Amino acid sequence: MPHEKYKSALAQHLDTQPENITLFWKGRVGLYGILEAMKIGPGDEVIIPAFTCVVVANAILYLGAKPVYAEIDPKTFNIDICKINQVISPRSKVIIAQNTFGLSSDLDGILEIAKKHQLRVIEDCTHGFGGTYKDKPNGSIAEAAFFSSQWNKTFSTGIGGMVVCNTPELATALNVFEKKCSKPSFLESRMLGLQMMARNQIQGGSAYWSAVKLYRYLSDKNIITGSSQGEELTEPKMPEDYLKKMSGVQARRGVKELKRLEENLRHRTKITNLYKEIFKKLKLNIPFEPKYAKHTYIKFPFFVKDRTAFLKKAEEEKIPVGDWFLSPIHPIETDFELWQYSYFLNPIAEKISRHILNLNTDFSIREKDVKHIESFLIKNKSELIAQLDFSREAGFLG
Ligand SMILES: *Cc1c(COP(=O)(O)O)cnc(C)c1O
Repeated sequence: MPHEKYKSALAQHLDTQPENITLFWKGRVGLYGILEAMKIGPGDEVIIPAFTCVVVANAILYLGAKPVYAEIDPKTFNIDICKINQVISPRSKVIIAQNTFGLSSDLDGILEIAKKHQLRVIEDCTHGFGGTYKDKPNGSIAEAAFFSSQWNKTFSTGIGGMVVCNTPELATALNVFEKKCSKPSFLESRMLGLQMMARNQIQGGSAYWSAVKLYRYLSDKNIITGSSQGEELTEPKMPEDYLKKMSGVQARRGVKELKRLEENLRHRTKITNLYKEIFKKLKLNIPFEPKYAKHTYIKFPFFVKDRTAFLKKAEEEKIPVGDWFLSPIHPIETDFELWQYSYFLNPIAEKISRHILNLNTDFSIREKDVKHIESFLIKNKSELIAQLDFSREAGFLG
């Protein structure tokens, strides 16, 4: 059984037992399952970073609860621990601690606040597979964690989600939830398998933009299995077939991907080190690396003056540049109130999301591609920002 094999392999990496792991069609389904198991519902508030993916807010809203957005720390792109207190209310139930770009949140600080206010903590490890917090694998510290193996994450099974529970009660509840989810149809799994094969062919910078464009087109038209369905981005209403299990195709691919995880992470470190050298040469800030965590750099973030113009240039010159997160609830850019987000409340996260872009570190980037990226950055140096200035935002907040 591919699912059993995958659970065993994951359990080894996550320092746990296979029965504590459950598998889903996407990571967001796993988050929904954890929240449901924690009995989160109407009247409850869940604290999330104001620098996340809309599907995180969606899972909370689908349960009738309210996402409450906390300001982020500009050094780590994770929740600013000093500011969590400002958003805690008598209705707060959970804090979601993200591993943005592969860097764990400072969990001890968050767990301490949670204990004081009797809140529960969930790790959003969708960027953090393979990283550590104080030498423990990401996902093994809080009560529960969810992971994603969507196209852009540490390793990919096309799309995919995994949950690890670190208490027996939650593990039991998630196993019940997993069984309750429906099985993907034969056609769906078949399509996903074909997409994985096609995706394997994409190499280097020149293929990147044509693949991105084709992928967006096909997934907008609902021809392929996109990571988000149109309806998840237009309003927070649960799609009909949202609660789905992982397919066999995904589990089999997951087993394969885990076998080359070390190589994957080594490659990312190698490419990241090359980027760091370039950024140092150009006198640009490089990402912060706290002592408490091992950063896996699934993306290498940097800042530009005009994001739209820079992306357009990158596309014209076939330089692979990504745009996480282009808003506090990526990729939403209008109608924030539908997700209960009040724009202007988190000026630091908002400023970051107006200026941030990222470089890819995955197997598709070879040393040759880094050379092209370097020339592109040198040529467009005047468009880059060495370090964002938050003095006004900090002053505004007092
Ligand atoms: C990708 C992502 C998710 C969702 O993962 P899926 O597997 O696509 O559902 C959740 N949180 C963050 C921060 C992400 O980047």
